[in-house]
Amino acid sequence: MPEGPEVEYTLRSLKEFEGKVIHSIRLSEISQKYEKYKGRQSEFVEFSGSILNKIERHGKFLVWIFNNKEVILNHLGMSGKWVICKKNEDNREIKYSKVIIEFENSQMIAIFDDTRNFGQFRRFENYDAVMNYRSIKKLGLDGLELPFPITDFKNVLKQNKILNKAIGRVLLDQTVVAGIGNIYKSESLFLAKINPLRAVKNLKSIEIEVLGKAVSEILQKAVNSMGSTIHTYRNPYGEEGSAQKWHQVYGKEGNNCEVCGTSISRIVQDKRSTFYCEHCQL
Ligand SMILES: [Zn+2]
Repeated sequence: MPEGPEVEYTLRSLKEFEGKVIHSIRLSEISQKYEKYKGRQSEFVEFSGSILNKIERHGKFLVWIFNNKEVILNHLGMSGKWVICKKNEDNREIKYSKVIIEFENSQMIAIFDDTRNFGQFRRFENYDAVMNYRSIKKLGLDGLELPFPITDFKNVLKQNKILNKAIGRVLLDQTVVAGIGNIYKSESLFLAKINPLRAVKNLKSIEIEVLGKAVSEILQKAVNSMGSTIHTYRNPYGEEGSAQKWHQVYGKEGNNCEVCGTSISRIVQDKRSTFYCEHCQL
């Protein structure tokens, strides 16, 4: 699943379209097989002629803001991605395109390709309506914010509802820190040398500080590596990310820890795998 860094890289690529006039937003033929897109083309007709003012990232969501005040909420889901390509290019590889956006005076188009169809592309009446949408409203601090808000991070970890939970579970909770997914959760805990099974209430203040710095370092490094390509992720230009080349624990069960040589362990927390080194992470 694309995590914060992959969505951030996607955002930076899509920014080339900011300020452009929409020629059309078209729902593809294949999209009409799915309930969430079926019969909804008319909702997007009035975007023709409006200007795409800005795209923002909120956690793993992209919010498309137009000068007609309307807003589109977009989530990449499990395997969704944006493809930026030339209008008349041979796009045979894009088999699951759901949305095609064409711009005035531009040869480049943006295609939302979503194999497993867990993604979202929904119209909202205005910006406030999106900000009040439950999944957006509940988002915690942004893990990609710079400088990393370490005081806020300490504060969110003081909430009663999470004190007894294992830190490996809490880091995936988008209402605590938005943008961390399964890969960067394991990598951040490894860098901070913290065992994922530790209850939040047992973490010392200095450990939380070290963890906050590790989260920020890992997420920023991932953006600079164009994200991780484990299965399907590609950036909008069709390139694979390279963050997987520096992963130290994620997906490495049974491999030797690069620091101490101990075999990397895998445990399951909230049905998600967590990878860690029992010797390095205390
Ligand atoms: Zn180790």
